[in-house]
Amino acid sequence: MLSRWTRLPFLACSLISLFSANLALGSEEAGNVIVLSGARLLDGTGRPPLEESVLVIIGDKINAVGAPNTVKYPADAKVIDCSGKTIVPGLISDHSHVGLVDGVSIKPENYNRENILRQLRQYERYGVTSVMALGLNSDLFYQLRDEQHAGKNPGADLFGADRGIGAPLGAPSAATIPVGNDQLYRPQTPEEAQAAVRDMAARHPDLIKIWVDDLLGTAPKIKPEIYRAAIQAAHGAGLRVACHIYYLDDAKTVIQAGADIIAHGVRDQPVDAQFVGLMKSASVWYIATLSLDESFYIYAEQPEWTKSAFFQAALQPALQQLLNDPSYLQKMRTNPRLPIFKKAVATNQANLKKLYDAGVQIGFGTDSGAVPLRIPGFAEHRELQLMVASGLSPAQALECATGHAAALLGLKDRGTLEAGKLADFIILDANPLQDITNTEKISAVWHRGKEVSGAITASP
Ligand SMILES: [Zn+2]
Repeated sequence: MLSRWTRLPFLACSLISLFSANLALGSEEAGNVIVLSGARLLDGTGRPPLEESVLVIIGDKINAVGAPNTVKYPADAKVIDCSGKTIVPGLISDHSHVGLVDGVSIKPENYNRENILRQLRQYERYGVTSVMALGLNSDLFYQLRDEQHAGKNPGADLFGADRGIGAPLGAPSAATIPVGNDQLYRPQTPEEAQAAVRDMAARHPDLIKIWVDDLLGTAPKIKPEIYRAAIQAAHGAGLRVACHIYYLDDAKTVIQAGADIIAHGVRDQPVDAQFVGLMKSASVWYIATLSLDESFYIYAEQPEWTKSAFFQAALQPALQQLLNDPSYLQKMRTNPRLPIFKKAVATNQANLKKLYDAGVQIGFGTDSGAVPLRIPGFAEHRELQLMVASGLSPAQALECATGHAAALLGLKDRGTLEAGKLADFIILDANPLQDITNTEKISAVWHRGKEVSGAITASP
């Protein structure tokens, strides 16, 4: 129990914030204090949950949060009873893509305003309130980023890595993900790589993305001298670099070249002490994307959850049709690479647990939006389940997807439910700390202090 004196600053803080909010918001919003009362609250910082909380919102921000006896609010505030619910921060994806997929098609024309805003609305409806589009963006990205930052359109907030740097005739595969010339650089020399980074830096992206992969031995890999030149140029421009990798050896080499973020899990073999040492000594972030390789086979197995409204509502009609096509599912089931994908998931999971326990910084991402079966919004909840199946606790997985995911992106204004942060959160009907699949029991999503959507129902 706090004394009268220590409680006073809360009150003073509230009044000051209320006063400035009134000035900023205009008369119709004046005095608009919203209080969510009685919910269990997980704040995303790693602290244990508050079993009973009061969350005070003014405008788009959290004004105060705490146990009922520690938080003050004005008598005329709008109080919403959230007893029996659980509040968690909005999820943040550190590795997704926008504007690549529409239905089951992947083509440059999909990078359009309407399609991207549709995807951002879907992310938000599934509680993913901020999304990093990690490469393959055309210049339209910057206009949409500005608008989402300003809250001009419904949907998740948007961050991005401009176009990114791939290998000539290599990753990312032009056959799997055909993009326009204005969505990717494929430099042939270190000088071309530096010039590509200069072009991107001039547009002020949030990160630089580089693909380092031979696509299971089927394509030429980007040369080390080219990605080293790109990383140096990015750092020279004050930008951090996220590297797509698959193999342990490449993960080590890109860290030695200065990479700041490993954008996929290591999937070819167990990580070793040298890798852990490199990750920790350079404070490199790790994004596992467990659900990526699972998406190559899981839908053909038709687990019970594929019948749920939560899953079905995430499918555009063309994708829904494809996943009901027996010949397509049979093709998936007999894919000769199936054993490779299954082993990749198992290796990725074991590596995630090992790296988490070793104290490596773990973010959150799925590669959702890169191809049709990496399904925006749904993939993020599946990723949480696969993280827990890897041995992380539900609280640890949720912390990666909120507070850590924000820290990976360098965002100080979100990711945790603390005074001064954006009021981005999900209200759940059941406790995800008991069962991580309870993150699917969405009662409401709040974004920037406003309720933006409710439960996920059968039709989108
Ligand atoms: Zn990706």
